[in-house]
Amino acid sequence: MHRLGGFWGSLSFGFILFLNAVFITIPGALSWSKEGHTMTCQIAQALLEPQASEAVSQLLPEYVEGDLSALCVWPDQIRHWYKYRWTSPLHFIDTPDDSCSFTYSRDCHDQHGVKDMCVAGAVKNFTSQLLHYREGTADRRYNMTEALLFLSHFMGDIHQPMHVGFTTDEGGNSIDLRWFRHKSNLHHVWDREIILTALADYYDKDVSLLLKDIERNYTDGTWSDDVSSWQQCNDISECVNSWAKESIQIACKWGYNGVKSGETLADDYFNSRMPYVMKRIAQGGIRLAMILNQVWDREIILTALADYYDKDVSLLLKDIERNYTDVRFNISLILTFYTTNSFLRLNTTLWAKESIQIACKWGYNGVKSGETLADDYFNSRMPYVMKRIAQGGIRLAMILNQVFGGSEEGFATAT
Ligand SMILES: [Zn+2]
Repeated sequence: MHRLGGFWGSLSFGFILFLNAVFITIPGALSWSKEGHTMTCQIAQALLEPQASEAVSQLLPEYVEGDLSALCVWPDQIRHWYKYRWTSPLHFIDTPDDSCSFTYSRDCHDQHGVKDMCVAGAVKNFTSQLLHYREGTADRRYNMTEALLFLSHFMGDIHQPMHVGFTTDEGGNSIDLRWFRHKSNLHHVWDREIILTALADYYDKDVSLLLKDIERNYTDGTWSDDVSSWQQCNDISECVNSWAKESIQIACKWGYNGVKSGETLADDYFNSRMPYVMKRIAQGGIRLAMILNQVWDREIILTALADYYDKDVSLLLKDIERNYTDVRFNISLILTFYTTNSFLRLNTTLWAKESIQIACKWGYNGVKSGETLADDYFNSRMPYVMKRIAQGGIRLAMILNQVFGGSEEGFATAT
């Protein structure tokens, strides 16, 4: 049951607050610049599966016309309001000076020591809130729009290296220096200066051109082999830890290293650091999409579990085992079962795609006319044959149950 338990199993939080949506903007931001957050969210939104994409559009207020990135800086704009002051520590993590490491239990707290009040805790918390989205439609205690916006923003922040910085210099905020000719500080260099200089020097100040370049790098370029490892995440608690660790390590090696208060940073610093900034924006966006896709994938199963199995996974498994004892069922089969049932959708396109993909990978692959197939082929292909028979049967039952079944939702448990 790893799929159901792992990624999401370890979520528990000391802080979940009741929120209301208020969308007004005020200036003054201390995090990835507007440009950085916008690109992170645009990357994520382009990678959403249909279900997550639909859910996100429904959660957004109408006036942004489905554009998540339009509100990804919102958490920076409201963090000093009285009502939202509690969110202020959620944008960063202070780690011990020069330790170049992050430990959740040691570092994730606010200045009063309240646990989970840091950007890593915030990502977990708002992921958890989104997971409750449809788990009982009456459960509207948390404002899901705000949860979405906070999560989207904090996925950007946790990837900004200097947001996991040293305590004494406030993540580089108190290291004053010059960026080329004007006054700045080390934190701001990473939040915004590098992005703005890149835009001015290479992209005619057009963010969409820069975004295209970043996208090219992960679809068909320097990072395209790394994307699947970026998306790997079985346990959200462990994932936020490793993302924060990546940040503090970049902060140490490329942010702080050799930089002194009062000096001027220019071309050398810019050229060597820009690739890291762009990569972190890409990683933030790709991983945000990964979370949102999983939230709305999981959501189907939760709904089915809540509706038909009293939220007890073991009941669901027993139900399946009782009826299909001659095939070893795996979790993907259960997922198939629910995906098809929950939405009353006959996903024939998906079923045909599954077939051609198995045909390519396991049918045709390496087979030539005239040759002999024996044990090897048999042993490795047999499970697919059995699985496809089971899937066919289960889906046929689902269709017949929907056609003839008494249940309004068209779902009949196989008891
Ligand atoms: Zn922020």
